[in-house]
Amino acid sequence: MQVKEIVQHFNTLFPNPKCELNYKSNYELLVAVILSAQCTDKRVNIVTNELFKNWNTPYKMVTLSQDELEEKIHSCGFYHNKAKNILAMSQDLIDKYNGIVPNNIEKLQTLAGVGRKTANVVFSEAFGGDAIAVDTHVLRVSNRLNLANTDNPLICEKQLMKIFDKKDWSRLHLQFVLFGRYICKAQNPKCQDCPFREFCNYYANISKRQ
Ligand code: SF4
Repeated sequence: MQVKEIVQHFNTLFPNPKCELNYKSNYELLVAVILSAQCTDKRVNIVTNELFKNWNTPYKMVTLSQDELEEKIHSCGFYHNKAKNILAMSQDLIDKYNGIVPNNIEKLQTLAGVGRKTANVVFSEAFGGDAIAVDTHVLRVSNRLNLANTDNPLICEKQLMKIFDKKDWSRLHLQFVLFGRYICKAQNPKCQDCPFREFCNYYANISKRQ
C-alpha cells in the first residue's frame, strides 16, 4: 500500500481527529497525559474534572501531599507512581521553568516523570509541533499494518517518521490512536469495518486460521 493511500484512508475515517482528554491549559494537559497511562481518557476526564477545580497549576498541586493526591486520582490506576510523578513534575516546573510548561520536546523530557511519549503528545497538542507520540495503540496499529516491526516505541516512532511526511505526523498520531481505540482494538478488532484488510498482517493470520 502506498503511503499516500494510507493517509487518505485515515483522513476519510477520522477527518477531524481530536485529543479526547479535557484540559484548559498546557499544565492541565500535561497532568492529564500522565494520568492517561494505562487508563481510558474517559476515566481521566472524570478525575481531572474534580482535581482541576482546585489544583490546576503546579503551585497549587505541590500543596497536596502524596497521600492526598493519591486519594484524588486513585481510580486512574497506578495512583502511587502517578501521584509521585505529578508532584515531582510540578516541582520541576516551578524550579526550572517558573511554572510554565516548556515548548520543546527536550525540555519537556527534563521534567520528572515525563518520557518521550508524554513529551511528544504535549509538544504536538499544546504547541502545534510535529511529533508522532507512540502509545500502545500507535504501536499495535503500526505493527499490524506493517508500518513498523518492533515492540520498542522509540524505534517505532523513528520508523513512522521515516515513512510519513513531517506535516502529517501529529494528525496521524491522533488518527492512529482513534483507529486503535475504536476499530483496530487489541482484542476483537473490527476488521469488517477496516479499509486496510488486504494489507494487514494480523488479518491475514486470522483469515488463514478460519
Ligand atoms: S484488518 Fe483488523 S487487525 Fe488489521 S488493521 Fe484493520 S482492524 Fe486492525
